[in-house]
Amino acid sequence: MRWRNWGRNQSASPRLVLSPRSEDELSADVARIASSGRRIKVVGRGHSFSAIAVPEDVQLSTARMSSPLSYDDATGRATVQGGTTIAAMNRWLATLGRALPNLGDIDEQRIAGAVATSTHGTGATKKGIAAQVVGARLVAPDGSITDVREDDPLLPFVRVNLGALGVVSSLTVQTVPAFRLRATEAPMRVDEVLGRIDELVDGTEFFEYYWVPHTRWALTKQNQSTDEPAAPGSRAANWATRVLLENAAFGAVCRVSRAWPRATPRLATILPSTGSRTRIDESHRILTSPRLVRFRESEWALPRERAADALRAVMDVVERGRHLVSFPVEFRFGAADDVPMSLAYGRDTAYVAVHMYRGVDHRRYFADVFAAMRELGGRPHWGKIHDLGRDDLRPRYPRFDEFVDVRRRLDPGGTFSNAYLDGVLGPVA
Ligand SMILES: Cc1cc2nc3c(=O)[nH]c(=O)nc-3n(C[C@H](O)[C@H](O)[C@H](O)COP(=O)(O)OP(=O)(O)OC[C@H]3O[C@@H](n4cnc5c(N)ncnc54)[C@H](O)[C@@H]3O)c2cc1C
Repeated sequence: MRWRNWGRNQSASPRLVLSPRSEDELSADVARIASSGRRIKVVGRGHSFSAIAVPEDVQLSTARMSSPLSYDDATGRATVQGGTTIAAMNRWLATLGRALPNLGDIDEQRIAGAVATSTHGTGATKKGIAAQVVGARLVAPDGSITDVREDDPLLPFVRVNLGALGVVSSLTVQTVPAFRLRATEAPMRVDEVLGRIDELVDGTEFFEYYWVPHTRWALTKQNQSTDEPAAPGSRAANWATRVLLENAAFGAVCRVSRAWPRATPRLATILPSTGSRTRIDESHRILTSPRLVRFRESEWALPRERAADALRAVMDVVERGRHLVSFPVEFRFGAADDVPMSLAYGRDTAYVAVHMYRGVDHRRYFADVFAAMRELGGRPHWGKIHDLGRDDLRPRYPRFDEFVDVRRRLDPGGTFSNAYLDGVLGPVA
């Protein structure tokens, strides 16, 4: 059966597809396959743009291990199977009056997949999803299961594990009481964003903005906790921001731009005229939204103090390279954490994400962005397109060698590796 990712830029024809229904079945499957010397790739929802999830030999799906397991009222900790989607987690947690403290742009990923690649949202004081993980059950190549607890020195490595350490059967995460957010979406001149960047980022709980290529405009999103009742707004009120930027009408803009690339700069001027909108809703409904327009993406994590340089660098790339780009460039922020392979390890972070509509050649644009981001000390998102290999990545992660040692210990035969992991971490042997 043919496997392909969401971005349609990765595909494979695995020779065997397994879909265990229980932890017992999972561990028996893993032991049987590993003992025959074959490689296993656990696949989440296939939402990575990099080749990290490509199943070259045996594909192991966790789609049938996708249920919440338990919730501890005393600690606010929730345990779910690794295949549980973030959307299902959000729905279940809402019934308990709980929520995840921060989320990425979408909720379609499986939790173990999102955690494995250091998936993050935005907010100067907010950490990525993996930082909330306080326990995990990990299946080794011989089928044995390790219960990794909070005080286990292994846990930091399992938090962002790249899918390289074993199969995550279940995860325990620290949740917070459910909260509502007031979302304010407004266009702003780029010069104002540059001049006020620290004030905007530090003065808003969840701040992000998109620069609209070929214009001097940015679209800003400021989300702030509130006790006010939900006021999600009418469909019409949300149309301009949610639909134009994220979905159907925006897809039409992209298709026109793909057919007539030279029209791109003129089409771009439509985007900032969307006006400002405010709405109030539960955190997961504000932070995530569907993405119906398919694209390819590269994202880089930079030291937070390079935030303004990052915007100038991307503007320069688009202008000098004469790239015709219909997708806004996304800028987000995050707090430093102590997860060894996290994009935000040891430093407050500014994230820069570039996108290209599916079917438009992204390679020249992305290559120019890669060069600029490397120069600014960027770490590429593990789940998005990049060109760095082990030797480039090693100096960017102070605990890289420790992670490689843990991988060698837990997976000495390279059962869970594929070409991407061999490239970014080096072969196991
Ligand atoms: C439209 C879109 C929007 C996105 N938005 C964001 C965003 O806002 N922020 C952000 O940081 N990223 C974002 N991403 C990237 C996405 O969050 C990551 O690529 C994530 O890893 C995808 O999860 P998945 O379940 O599809 O995992 P996959 O891509 O299928 O797998 C990723 C890795 O996880 C491993 N894995 C999966 N399940 C297990 C398991 N049970 N045990 C061990 N390893 C496992 C796989 O082997 C692989 O190595 C976005 C992607 C798309 C397509």
